[in-house]
Amino acid sequence: MIWSWYHSVNTEAFIFVKIIALPYEAISVFDIFKIGVGPSSSHTLGPWKAALRLLEHLRQDASLSEVTSVRVLLYGSLAKTGKGHGTDIAVLLGLTGEDPESFDPISIDSRIEDIRRMKRLVLGGRHEIQMEPEEDIDFLITESLPFHPNALTFLVSFQSGAAFSQTYYSIGGGFIIQEGEQLQSALQTQPSFPIDSADELLHWCMKTGFPVSEVVAENELAWRSSDDTKKGLDRIWNVMKECVFKGCHTEGFLPGGLEVKRRAAGLNKRLISGRNYSDHTSWLEAITSAGNDFQYTIDWVSCFALAVNEENASFGRVVTAPTNGAAGVVPAVLHYMLAFCGGYTRERVHMFLLTAAEIGSIFKKGATLSAAMGGCQAEIGVSSAMAAAALTECLGGTQRQVLMAAEIAMEHHLGLTCDPIAGLVQIPCIERNTMGAIKAITASRLALQSAPDYAKVSLDAVVKTMWQTAQDMNHKYKETAEGGLALQIPLSLSEC
Ligand code: SF4
Repeated sequence: MIWSWYHSVNTEAFIFVKIIALPYEAISVFDIFKIGVGPSSSHTLGPWKAALRLLEHLRQDASLSEVTSVRVLLYGSLAKTGKGHGTDIAVLLGLTGEDPESFDPISIDSRIEDIRRMKRLVLGGRHEIQMEPEEDIDFLITESLPFHPNALTFLVSFQSGAAFSQTYYSIGGGFIIQEGEQLQSALQTQPSFPIDSADELLHWCMKTGFPVSEVVAENELAWRSSDDTKKGLDRIWNVMKECVFKGCHTEGFLPGGLEVKRRAAGLNKRLISGRNYSDHTSWLEAITSAGNDFQYTIDWVSCFALAVNEENASFGRVVTAPTNGAAGVVPAVLHYMLAFCGGYTRERVHMFLLTAAEIGSIFKKGATLSAAMGGCQAEIGVSSAMAAAALTECLGGTQRQVLMAAEIAMEHHLGLTCDPIAGLVQIPCIERNTMGAIKAITASRLALQSAPDYAKVSLDAVVKTMWQTAQDMNHKYKETAEGGLALQIPLSLSEC
C-alpha cells in the first residue's frame, strides 16, 4: 500500500489519501497479533521498535561503538500523550537493545531507575553512552511532522564529531516506518490469495470453498510452514491466557497517578465464589461449570476484558490485538467462546485467531489501526470487528455471515473518539474494551441469525466509512488528550 499526503496550513490538519495498492501489501497474522509490553502499541511498542531499528542501522554501519550521545525528539501525539503511554520508557529500553517480546516487564522500573540514576545507558547492550532522559528525550508538544502524528527523531552524535538523524513514524498497531521509506511489508513472498478488501476475501472463500481461517492459513504458508504457524498461534494464545489469568488475580491500583483501582480481581473473586485456582485450565473449567446465566456470562466477559487492559495499563505482558489499548477485546471474546460456547480445542483457538487477524488486516489496508489517525474506532472498533468475525466463524457461521458480523461490530463504533484522561491508557480505555467485547458478541449473534444477502451495508463500505470519518474527525479526538473526557476531567499529574 502506498500512502500520499498533503498538508494544510494548519499543522494539525493532516489529510491522508490512500492510493492504489501497488504492490499488494502482505500482512501476516503475526503482524496483527504481536507479543509485547503495555500500555500502547503506537506509543510504546512502535517507539521501542523504532529504537531497535536505529540500533540495527548503527550495527550495519559498524558505527555503534562510535556513538557518544543519542537525543530523542517526540512529536505530535507521541509528545502529547507520550508520558502517560510510557513512550520515553519504551525508547530507553529499545536503545538498550531489549526485545519487547521477551523482556520481563517486572524489570522495567529498576532498569529505568538505573539509567536515570547513573545518567548512562548501554546502547545495544554493549556500548555505554551518556543519557539523561529528562534532558535527552524532548516532548515537543507544539510540533508535528506532516506525514503522521506519531513521529520520533533520533539525533545521533559520534566521536568524530559527525552526527546524523533518523525519523520514524509509529503508524498504529506497533507498525513503524522510517522516513522516506514506502509503507511496505517485510514479507517478500506473495501469498496464494492476495487480499486487500472484504470482497477479495469473499472471492477466495467462494472460489476455494474454504472458511476465512483456512484462506488465511493457506496464505501464511507463503512465509512459514503450517507447523510453525500453529506454534506461533500457540504462543499468542499462551500470552493471552496468562494475561487474562494474571489480570483476574492482581489487585491494587494502576500506575500513572490517576489512582484507578483494578477491578478484574474483585469481579473474579465474586464470580468464582472466592475459590482459588492455580492454573488457567482448572479456572476456566470452574467458570464453565457454574452455568451460563445471562448476567453471570456478561460479567465474565467484562472481567476478561478488564483483566487484560489492567495488565496493559501496568506495563504488563500483552498481545497487541490489533493495538494495546484495545488488547482486551479479542481475548475476552475468545474466553467467552471457550467458557460458554463449546470449550477449548487447539483448532478452535487457531481458527479464531486466524479469522480475527484477517479482519484486522483489511482495516489496516483500507483504513487505519492508529488512534492518532482515526480515533478509538480504529482501536476498539477494529478489535470488536475482529472478535465478532472470529466468533461467528467458530460458531459455524458462513463466510458471508463472518464478514457481516465484522461489519455490524464496526458500524456501531463509527465516530468513536480517542480521549484518554491524562494521556493514560486507563479511562475510558479499560472499560471500553468491555463494550467492544459485548458488541462483538451481539454482532456475531445478529449475523448468525441473519441472511447476509439482505444486508444493506457491506464490510468494505464500513471500512471506507470509517476511513472517511477518521479524516473528518477533529484532531482533538485523535490520541492527543486535548478533547472529550480528557478535557472534561482535567487532572494534572506529577511526572512519573
Ligand atoms: S481511548 Fe481508545 S484509542 Fe484512545 S488510547 Fe484509549 S483505547 Fe486507545
